[in-house]
Amino acid sequence: MKPIQMVDLVGQYAKIKSEVDQAIQGVLNSAAFINGPEVRSFEQELAAYLGVKHAIGCANGTDALQIAMMALDLQPGDEVITPSFTFVATVEVVALLGLKPVFAEVLPGTFNMDPADVARKITPRTKAIVPVHLFGQTADMEPLMALAREKGLHVIEDNCQAVGSDYTFADGTVRKAGTIGTVGTTSFFPSKNLGCYGDGGAIFTNDDALAKRIRQVCNHGSEVRYYHDVVGVNSRLDSIQAAILRIKLSNLDAYGKARQDAAAFYDRAFAGMEHVHTPERSPSSTHVFHQYTLRITGGHRDALRAHLEKNGVPAMIYYPVPLHLQKAYQAYGIRQGDLPVTERLMHEVLSLPMSTELDTEQLEHIAATVRSYFNA
Ligand SMILES: *Cc1c(COP(=O)(O)O)cnc(C)c1O
Repeated sequence: MKPIQMVDLVGQYAKIKSEVDQAIQGVLNSAAFINGPEVRSFEQELAAYLGVKHAIGCANGTDALQIAMMALDLQPGDEVITPSFTFVATVEVVALLGLKPVFAEVLPGTFNMDPADVARKITPRTKAIVPVHLFGQTADMEPLMALAREKGLHVIEDNCQAVGSDYTFADGTVRKAGTIGTVGTTSFFPSKNLGCYGDGGAIFTNDDALAKRIRQVCNHGSEVRYYHDVVGVNSRLDSIQAAILRIKLSNLDAYGKARQDAAAFYDRAFAGMEHVHTPERSPSSTHVFHQYTLRITGGHRDALRAHLEKNGVPAMIYYPVPLHLQKAYQAYGIRQGDLPVTERLMHEVLSLPMSTELDTEQLEHIAATVRSYFNA
């Protein structure tokens, strides 16, 4: 059996090596390393794939969030509602811009933002909601968008983990994750579903004026070189990464299918087990399985993880400490006990290996190792 990894990027590269090597060589031959034609082509192809008017490349997914908030002109003291059960990037940029993070609960089944708790946390100072489409499923956008419309709030979708996921509204309209709110952001970190071979990110919007502002912020607040109308940053997607991403994008739906097949295998293998809870599917979103995250109850999570590691199966805890309990974010006045669902999940979640390259032998070994811990 091939050794099992959380994500097998080497195996994935091997299958597209000649195409990728040729694309990289093309950029080297042209020396158009920054904002070259590959970047423009990738932006257009990504916008077309997502069905959104504008896709704007930038340096990484964290910058994408920061640039979105700068382009929306959020001001110090404005409140931004985000989940606590997520990666640190969102709250980091909120804090850096002098905004105030307000943490909302997630739903215990889908791990995504709970719209009812968001409604409770809105105050007169709230300016934006940042749903994170965690682990590959779109958060429940219909009630979140209704709330945002009613209260006049911006919605910034953190779509670093669910590129390609489809959200269906009650009237049957289908939209891609990241294209529903005021603005959407993503990361091309290598292990993401649409990953490059270094750092990269992008921002999406259907709003022409906002798109113009985003491009300006990315480029030192400048539209005409050496004239700076707003305070900006330097955040660009490299041409080499864009050339690689064009190839990855053309395979994205096939990659999603491979992940869904692995997830379906796991679902079948763990069906009916007392302490192993397979990931709940949202009725309104497809799942592209950035992570396949189990909930392990009965206090077995850490011992199961140790048993898996001992038997050659890596497993990860995303995330061991929610943001409201992190040392860096204690200034915002939220404490242990304030978000009970999030605080329970941190002791239950366990993500199994998930990639486009898992074969049946590996999947069978992973499933058998989980079952052997429970003598099942
Ligand atoms: C990966 C990730 C980010 C940050 O992306 P980088 O490209 O690493 O800066 C932000 N939010 C979420 C939910 C992520 O998974």
